[in-house]
Amino acid sequence: MSNTKKNPLDLSAFPAASVIEYSTLVCLACTFEIFTTQLGLAPRTAYSEIKKYSPTVAELTAPKALPPFFDSEEKHPHCPYCKAAKRWHARFDTTRIEGEKATDAARRKLVKALPQKDGQFQIIATNSQKRATFFDWLATLDHNLELDDDDWLLESTRAWLARCEPKTDWAGVFQSVRAVRRSQRLTEAWEQEGRRLFLAPHLYSEILVVQYLVSRSHVHGGRTLEGRLTLQELLRRLRYGGYLEKQGISTSDQFEILEQVIEKLSGGAGKVKLYYIVDRRDFLEKVKSVYASFAA
Ligand SMILES: [Zn+2]
Repeated sequence: MSNTKKNPLDLSAFPAASVIEYSTLVCLACTFEIFTTQLGLAPRTAYSEIKKYSPTVAELTAPKALPPFFDSEEKHPHCPYCKAAKRWHARFDTTRIEGEKATDAARRKLVKALPQKDGQFQIIATNSQKRATFFDWLATLDHNLELDDDDWLLESTRAWLARCEPKTDWAGVFQSVRAVRRSQRLTEAWEQEGRRLFLAPHLYSEILVVQYLVSRSHVHGGRTLEGRLTLQELLRRLRYGGYLEKQGISTSDQFEILEQVIEKLSGGAGKVKLYYIVDRRDFLEKVKSVYASFAA
């Protein structure tokens, strides 16, 4: 059991939608091979170089890991490149927090409380376009939800609502909700009535777009609360629902409309600061134990 599992980060101060967690494995057999055979370093030197190694954000968060990184859901995976067994694998857990004024103090406190010794944690701050951050969020949704599952429509609805209204107890609301409807009378927000959740038209429209964007690459036409929709059908619903007018979107080019809707959902054109907290504890522990057996 590694330390990482024993002491997870306390993220309770952050809205769920502003945090993304990534996990990837690195094969230390492959890594030592690169440093000793390819780079010609003595094991001892390789060991001290590898310990210092800090993966890039791209390596830590890639949807498809590249060597010597790999992803596996298996309990006892083997390295896909060299077949090394589990004791050669180290895990990097990375937590990405979107920089927001409301959570700046909490983030500083969290970072300050991390153990500083031996580079157990590394913080990487980057700037990203809001649009890119929104697409990362969609990719996480896609990764975490089972599109063939009927719960997907409810779960994706809940995810968007949690992004819009982070302070509401959505887990509580969705315990009883079984259906989502467009409200005929609400002009904003939402209302729960027994097992049904009624949404103001613009909120309902946004959820259709989110569902379309996540599911369009999996099925022909996206899968939404309104069934499978092509882009044209989706935009027709947005138009009839009054969404496009409300957002001041008047172009007739459908790809341009989608672009403008995405910009609106992303929160505008600006930039957002992203903080990556990289947990290197498992890595440091495994490098040490692997070196001990490697050098023996
Ligand atoms: Zn390997």
